[in-house]
Amino acid sequence: MSVKNKTTFSLEVFPPKKEMPLASVYPTLTELSVLHPDFISVTCGAQGTGSNRTAEIAATIKEQFNLEPVAHLPGIYLTKEEVCNTLKELKKHRIHKILALRGDMTPEKEPAHDFAHASDLIRFIKKESPDFHIIGACYPEGHVESKRPALDIIHLKEKVDAGASSLISQLFFDNTLFYRFLERCEIASIHVPIAAGIMPVTNKKQIERMVSLCGATLPLHYQHLIAKYGDNPVAMRDAGIAYAIAQIIDLLAHGVDGIHVYTMNNAYIAQKIADAIRTLL
Ligand code: FAD
Repeated sequence: MSVKNKTTFSLEVFPPKKEMPLASVYPTLTELSVLHPDFISVTCGAQGTGSNRTAEIAATIKEQFNLEPVAHLPGIYLTKEEVCNTLKELKKHRIHKILALRGDMTPEKEPAHDFAHASDLIRFIKKESPDFHIIGACYPEGHVESKRPALDIIHLKEKVDAGASSLISQLFFDNTLFYRFLERCEIASIHVPIAAGIMPVTNKKQIERMVSLCGATLPLHYQHLIAKYGDNPVAMRDAGIAYAIAQIIDLLAHGVDGIHVYTMNNAYIAQKIADAIRTLL
C-alpha cells in the first residue's frame, strides 16, 4: 500500500445502450454527484465506437456536475490514429484522467493489432500526451485468461512501468484475497495506489453472471445469503448492500488506498453505501 492521507472514494457508471438517448444517464449522475466522489469513471465498450459516448458523459460530469471524470479507453480494437483522436477529444473537454485497458475481446472481431496489451496503450498515451493521469486495471484473483498468476503480476508491473500511476481492481467478494494480492504487488515493487473494486450485487442472476464472467470467489457466508434471500428481490438487494458495506469497512480498517464502487448505474445502492461509510473515509 502506498503512503497517502485519504482513502479515495470513486464511482463507476456505464453509458446508456445505443438505442437510448445519452441524457437518460443524467438523472443517475445528478444523484451520484451529491455523494461527492473523488471521481466518476465512465466505461467504454471495446468493440464499437463507444468512446464518443464515454467522452460526452465524462465531459458532462466535468462541466455540469463539476466533478472529476475518468474516461475508460479500451485499445484492442483501436488504431493509433483512433486513440490520438480520442485523446484530442478528451483534452478538448479538459478530461485528464484515463483508465487505459486492453478491453473485452470477442472471437468475432479481429483486433486492430496496435495495442495487444494495456501496457502498449499506456506507453503510447504517455508518449503522445504525457499530461494524462493514466490508471490501469488489476485483478486480485488473477485475470481470467491468465494461466499463471505470477505472470499476471509481472504484466501488472509492466503496466505501471509503462506509465500507469494508479490501479483499480476487478470486483472481489473475499477481502483476504485482496490483501494477499497487495502483498504480491509489494513484493513486485508495485507502489502506486490500488483502489479496491466493490460491486454491490443485489440479485441472484447478477451474482451468477459476475462470477462466471470474472471468476471471482464467492465466500461461503455470501453463498448463504444467496441461498436464503436469492428469491426475494428486496431482501437480496438489502443483503447485497449490507455485504458491500461490511466489505468496505474492513478494507478501510486495513488502510486501503481507495474504494471504487461499480454502481451499475443504480444511484440508490451507491447512496446507501456512501451514507454508511461517509465518516470512515
Ligand atoms: P491487460 O493488462 O492487457 O491484461 C490482459 C491479459 O493479458 C492478462 O491475462 C495479462 O496477464 C496478459 N498480458 C498483459 N500484458 C502481457 C504481455 N506483455 N504478454 C503476454 N500477456 C500479457 N472492458 C471494457 O471493454 N471496457 C471498460 O470500460 C472496462 N472497464 C474496466 C474497468 C476495470 C476497473 C476493470 C478491472 C476491467 C475493465 N474492463 C473493461 C475489462 C477489461 O477490459 C478486461 O478485463 C480485459 O480482458 C483485460 O483488460 P486489461 O486492461 O486488464 O488487459
